[in-house]
Amino acid sequence: WVRLQGRTEADENNIQKLLGTIQDISKEKQADQYKDDFISIASHELRTPITILSGTLQLLDRNKPDGDLKLSGLIEQANKSLKKVTILIEDLLNASKMNEGQLHLNKQPFNIVEAVNECCAHINREGIYQILVEGDLSTDIYGDADRIQQVIINFVNNAIKYAPDEKIITIKAIDEGDVVKVSVIDSGPGIDQEKAEHLFDRYYRVDSKGSQYSGLGLGLYISAEIIKKHGGKIGVNSVNGNGSEFWFILPKQNQQIN
Ligand code: ADP
Repeated sequence: WVRLQGRTEADENNIQKLLGTIQDISKEKQADQYKDDFISIASHELRTPITILSGTLQLLDRNKPDGDLKLSGLIEQANKSLKKVTILIEDLLNASKMNEGQLHLNKQPFNIVEAVNECCAHINREGIYQILVEGDLSTDIYGDADRIQQVIINFVNNAIKYAPDEKIITIKAIDEGDVVKVSVIDSGPGIDQEKAEHLFDRYYRVDSKGSQYSGLGLGLYISAEIIKKHGGKIGVNSVNGNGSEFWFILPKQNQQIN
């Protein structure tokens, strides 16, 4: 029939190719859907035992015999592993929430410089940070401080993870008039331009299979969703081999940046 309409064999081949691509895309979408459903169930189910484990470790720590260094060391190790798992599960839960359109922001006035300082205290790697403030950021901005801190912590944790030889991580907060820009700069391996475009996609990881670093490829996706919900913008500047600058721009008041 197609031929009867005056199409050549080459046209037919192209149509077949196109159909193949459409099929591939729908298969990919279905696979993503299965992944999402699984993740949503698994993360909810994992939360309770993790909470119990954390409580048990605290109890063990409080009741251990004085001076038992071996037990202290074991508890510390267990706590570190538990922290890693907790971050993974939180990422999974957050990603499911975003997928289902259930990310609710609790917007209040807050100071962005204080928020940055608190993040560094939270990550607690003394001597590794350099915080630079440009302009006057003493006035509160409007947003969900916890969620914005989640984005900053995510950038900083990535800088620590992917640029492990890094001595100093620079965090800049810049007053740009109606907006404020926060960026986290490392001089690690960087990301090439072609890949940088996909960094904020769900499950995307550079070298996903061969990577020596564990991760799910959700942190930057979650960060992007948080910033978009604030009407802001997020991005990365990186020249391969010359470090990365992950940044976001937020409106100071409740508005959308064009
Ligand atoms: P994850 O760290 O779990 O893989 P993210 O969404 O946080 O997920 O990051 C996505 C990918 O971006 C990472 O797999 C890594 O390849 C790359 N990436 C993120 N931050 C940096 C950085 N500071 N330097 C180099 N690569 C980075």
